[in-house]
Amino acid sequence: MYGVKQIEHPKTLDQALILLDENPGIVPYAGGTDILVKMRADNMQGVHLMALHKLEELFLIRDADDGIHIGPMVTYANLAKNSLIEQKLPLLKTAALAMGGPQVQNLATIGGNICNGATSADGAAPLMSLDAKLILRSRHKERIVPITEFYIGPGRVALKDDELLVDILIPPIPEKAYANKYIKFATRKAMDIAILGCAATISLNRDESIKKATLAYCTAGPTPVRCPMAEERLIGEKDLSEELLEEVADLAAESCKPRTSWRASKEYRLNLIRQLAKRAISECYDEARSSL
Ligand SMILES: Cc1cc2nc3c(=O)[nH]c(=O)nc-3n(C[C@H](O)[C@H](O)[C@H](O)COP(=O)(O)OP(=O)(O)OC[C@H]3O[C@@H](n4cnc5c(N)ncnc54)[C@H](O)[C@@H]3O)c2cc1C
Repeated sequence: MYGVKQIEHPKTLDQALILLDENPGIVPYAGGTDILVKMRADNMQGVHLMALHKLEELFLIRDADDGIHIGPMVTYANLAKNSLIEQKLPLLKTAALAMGGPQVQNLATIGGNICNGATSADGAAPLMSLDAKLILRSRHKERIVPITEFYIGPGRVALKDDELLVDILIPPIPEKAYANKYIKFATRKAMDIAILGCAATISLNRDESIKKATLAYCTAGPTPVRCPMAEERLIGEKDLSEELLEEVADLAAESCKPRTSWRASKEYRLNLIRQLAKRAISECYDEARSSL
């Protein structure tokens, strides 16, 4: 049914990168929750797989001077129960618990979610709002790509055939006067792809005015999107009036290109983009202010 030609089990990252270099067409295999669906649909008959499960360094979550490092092989179940994530990046915990159901969360990795390239990826909007950097390594080279430049088209990412995603770096986030949030809108509480997902972060100055705001969406266009015009409009503001939030919601909608699918119409998604922007930003603002 699955038509696997061969599966490799490298024991070290170096071995994996050599295998990638020497075997054009070999496919990295993480949790398999996207790959297996594609294979079953007959799109990948005779595939040569490379399992990443023995590469211990890809499973780590650690706090360092340059930020929080999340290994691409961290499953959504492990992300949801990690205390560092819970304390500093609660939006990723929310995204993890909103992913599929427990069975999927136990297998699905954050790296697979991003590398698969789907605009609906629950991990994408949170990582975009956090200015995540992706560390991509081949046998001979390493490069760092901001996640905002990683998505290059529907289902397409800037990952070369000989590269693996080896690390996800979240730059340092403020200890105080800061909040982040992810809101997933779907018709069911589990086992449902997002009709829309919205992630926001806010950090404040001492006088409660906004120092930095970020806003990102999944399923709001052919790729996940950031909304720089809405973000810039918020800088310096401290009275989040209904008029200001409406204006910001309009600017957010201008950055998005939602389409009609069987899950929802373009107009419905545009309305959600506006409503979720207002909700995510005002909730982040209140939470950031309470941590000043
Ligand atoms: C029933 C069901 C429900 C689902 N619900 C959701 C949901 O609610 N939200 C959501 O976002 N997704 C959902 N998904 C999709 C899927 O579970 C996620 O996208 C998941 O995170 C993919 O991770 P994985 O480890 O299984 O990836 P895999 O299937 O192993 O790999 C996916 C792609 O990424 C590549 N890849 C993986 N790791 C690396 C790496 N380190 N370097 C380079 N390339 C790599 C693979 O080669 C492949 O192309 C669902 C899937 C199923 C089957």
